[in-house]
Order: sequence, then C-alpha cells, then structure tokens
Amino acid sequence: RAKEQGRNSYQFYTPDMNAHSHERLLLEADLRKALEQNQLVLHYQPQYELASGRVVGVEALVRWQHPEKGLISPNDFIPLAEETGLIVPLGEWVLKTACQQAVSWQSGGLIDLKIAVNVSARQFRQSGFLDSVNRILNETGLPPRWLELEITESTVMKNVSGTIKIMNQLHRQGISLAIDDFGTGYSSLSYLKRFPLSKLKIDSSFIADITHSANDLSIAKSIVALAETMQMDVLAEGVERQEQQELLQKMGCGYGQGFLFSRPLPATELEPFLCKAGK
Ligand code: C2E
Ligand code: MG
Ligand code: MG
Ligand code: MG
Repeated sequence: RAKEQGRNSYQFYTPDMNAHSHERLLLEADLRKALEQNQLVLHYQPQYELASGRVVGVEALVRWQHPEKGLISPNDFIPLAEETGLIVPLGEWVLKTACQQAVSWQSGGLIDLKIAVNVSARQFRQSGFLDSVNRILNETGLPPRWLELEITESTVMKNVSGTIKIMNQLHRQGISLAIDDFGTGYSSLSYLKRFPLSKLKIDSSFIADITHSANDLSIAKSIVALAETMQMDVLAEGVERQEQQELLQKMGCGYGQGFLFSRPLPATELEPFLCKAGK
C-alpha cells in the first residue's frame, strides 16, 4: 500500500514537474529573445531627501514588455536570469541604459541627480564586472560620482573578502555603493564597517507597519542609528503613507522612496515629475 501510494504520488507529481521545467525552458528562450529584441524596459523611481522634499536620485527598475504576456515584473524573471547566467548581459543592458538616461537628464538640466542601479549576486561576482562598469561609464560619459550601485545585504555577506575587494575598486573610482533590502539578511556589524558604503536602504518590510509595530519601529531606529555611527546615508524603502514619512523624518532617516512620492515610471513620465519637484 505504501508502495502504491509512493507510485501514485510519483505519477501525480511528474507531469506537474515536467510542465514546470518545460515552462522554464520556454521562459529562458523567451528571455534570451527579449534581450536581442529589445523587449526590456527601465522604469525609474525617484528618491527623496525627506527634510527638503528634494529628489536626489532615481532608481532604475527593469521590466519585461512581453509580446503576449504583457509587462512582467523583475521578481518573475531576475531569479531565472541569475540561474541561467543571462543576468550578465541583462545587467549590462540595464547599466548602460540607465547611464545613458542619466546623461540625457543631466544634459537636459536635471543636474544633481544620482542614478541607482541594482546589481545581482552573480553579476557582482562575475570576473568581468569591474571592466564592464568602466566600459559603460566611458561609453556613456557618465561621471562615476553620479552612479550608485545597489547590492543586497545577502549578496554582500556571502563572500566578505571578495566583496571588499570589488567594492574598494568601485569606491576608488568614485562610484557610490548602497546596501539594498537592509535588515533582511544577516549582516555582521564588524564586517559592515569594512565596506566602503555610502547608503543603507531599510527594507520595505520594516516600513510597512512602522506606525503600528513597536518591533519594526525599533528595528528601523536601530538601522538609522547604525548608519549614523558609520557615517552612511539611510533611505527607507516602500514609503506609502504620510504617517510613515513623518515618523521616519522624526527619527532621523534622511531619505525615502515609495508610492507616497511616486511609483516607478517610464523616463518620459518621470521628467515633469522631476521638474515639479523643483529640479
Ligand atoms: P528593490 O531593488 O528592493 O526595489 C524595490 C521594489 O519595491 C521595486 O519593485 C519597487 O517597484 C517596489 N516599490 C517601490 N516603492 C514601493 C512602495 O511604496 N510599496 C511597495 N509595495 N513597493 C514599492 P520591482 O520594480 O518589482 O523590483 C523588485 C526587485 O527586482 C528589486 O527590489 C530588485 O531586487 C530586482 N530588480 C529590479 N530591477 C533590477 C535590475 O535591473 N537588476 C537586478 N539585478 N535586479 C533588479
Ligand atoms: Mg534596489
Ligand atoms: Mg530593496
Ligand atoms: Mg528587493
């Protein structure tokens, strides 16, 4: 009977798993095509200095404009891109496009605007990463001080000595480094101060209930204090409501980003926004 059950569950799961891996293969082939056929697009979300209400930067966030499935969110294809290695050409496309956009905004008079670009673990560790960043900065003419790379806390903590080496080189060139999704990983505080970081981004999961959860509030406060001690900027992700913004400002969080201010938008839709913000 046990045998029968085992066989049943085997038979039950197999077609399902096949359908799943088949789906993934299709998606991988599709993603390859997407890169070649320019189906990826960047949306941009402004980052605000809370005290002044000034836009100080924009984060580039990739989307996939799929011919049949419509706009696909990065959470649905970045992990696949990581597993297959497609993240390397994809990441280069994102970096290049974001830098080009930043140069075009700057030549249009929107100065003092940093461009923040997400870098995934595999992309960051790949041996050609530093060269590709340099090449793209040269090709686009973006001064390195206007580029900020966002690397998640878990990526940074995976191989500390390797991370420090890469980060030091980027930092020496004048590129800023931010830790994304901070608070969700397991940072060793003694390591943290050895990284040349300019910003911690408090993960949105701590901001969502910050006005009701004493726990989340104290975590956010600790991160703000930590950033201050280490002389880093601190930005709250996922700010959706006025009360959150006020609370964050009161506790000394310098910067914020979220739907309260703006959703990520295509470049052309963001421009009037930047002007409105006094840029
Ligand atoms: P992330 O870098 O932490 O980006 C923040 C995510 O939160 C974005 O989702 C953004 O649209 C969303 N968000 C912003 N404000 C709010 C808010 O007020 N409320 C809520 N609920 N969400 C908000 P998105 O664009 O879907 O990106 C998801 C993740 O995908 C990013 O998280 C990042 O890890 C990854 N990703 C996006 N673009 C790229 C890319 O070009 N390269 C790499 N490697 N990863 C990327
Ligand atoms: Mg990010
Ligand atoms: Mg984040
Ligand atoms: Mg995230």
